[in-house]
Amino acid sequence: MRTPSIALLLVASLFLSAACDRSGPAFDEATAVWKTFDGEKALAHAADIVAMGPRPPGSEAIEKSRIYIEEHLDSLGWQVQRQTFTRKTPIGEVEFVNLRARFAPADSDKLWRRSVRVLLCSHYDTKLYRDLTFVGANDPGSSMSALMEAGRVLAQRPDLAAEVELTFFDGEEAFGPNITPTDGLFGSIYYAGEMLQLKPEQRPRWGVLLDMVGDKDLKIDIASKLPPLSIRELKGITVDHQALEKQREILTRMCLDASADAGHRRYFSVTSSYITDDHVPLNQVSGIPVIDLIDFDYDYWHTPNDTLDKLSAESLTIAGQTTLMLVEKYLME
Ligand SMILES: [Zn+2]
Repeated sequence: MRTPSIALLLVASLFLSAACDRSGPAFDEATAVWKTFDGEKALAHAADIVAMGPRPPGSEAIEKSRIYIEEHLDSLGWQVQRQTFTRKTPIGEVEFVNLRARFAPADSDKLWRRSVRVLLCSHYDTKLYRDLTFVGANDPGSSMSALMEAGRVLAQRPDLAAEVELTFFDGEEAFGPNITPTDGLFGSIYYAGEMLQLKPEQRPRWGVLLDMVGDKDLKIDIASKLPPLSIRELKGITVDHQALEKQREILTRMCLDASADAGHRRYFSVTSSYITDDHVPLNQVSGIPVIDLIDFDYDYWHTPNDTLDKLSAESLTIAGQTTLMLVEKYLME
């Protein structure tokens, strides 16, 4: 086990000094659960989800996938809330549904009013194609399945799980060819707008977005650089972008450290490319430092060949264990 450098600890404690308002679980390898993340179980979820067929926003199949996520998490002691809204899109008015899961058996009112420290998220809609069958095994089957398995693992540590929110975004994919200021990221923009209504100390301290993490040939990039301000609902929002960028840099180093501790360091690198994904509004609108773990080097991206046979349980294990190591180790940062 590598210990983090003093410098990192110092910066990390600076990172969220304002947030140290309550004590929480400390990292202890003896009780740590990150290792129990099972890529086979995540792959089985992906198989079930892919079998539902294409799952674009508003479809019957995406509703089926929602019920599947809800039933899984519910059985583990998570409470799942639907965040429903409609937006004008290039194909007309569409209803979207984000799923938010928090861990606590009782008192639901209090559950949703209290703050959590960490946000783990993925989108769960597939890109709409009218002329071909796109089932999105990797995009987003892999990351939504990893999040479901993370839910199982975290439920073994209620003290830890109580500090985490699992969020599944709808409408990440654009209806047109690419994400633009008026198309795509619908769910995360809505979610970030809702977060903005809360006081900063009521929002999650930091977050990790997973996207395309199941490719057999896994090369995960940590994306922390954001594209220039482009979110359509930015008007009147004042976020300290420099401070946020620093926080994402620290988070990136924490993630690299966690990957080393989990024995998966060789699968991770840092990209300086701009990646437009759900982490952008979370940063730019709600000011939550969120990094994106994404393997964009995937030949089958947005093609009918993004199918289950391209995924491996091992890759899901690498992504899932690293994410959970990061949460367990740095939860209280
Ligand atoms: Zn996609």
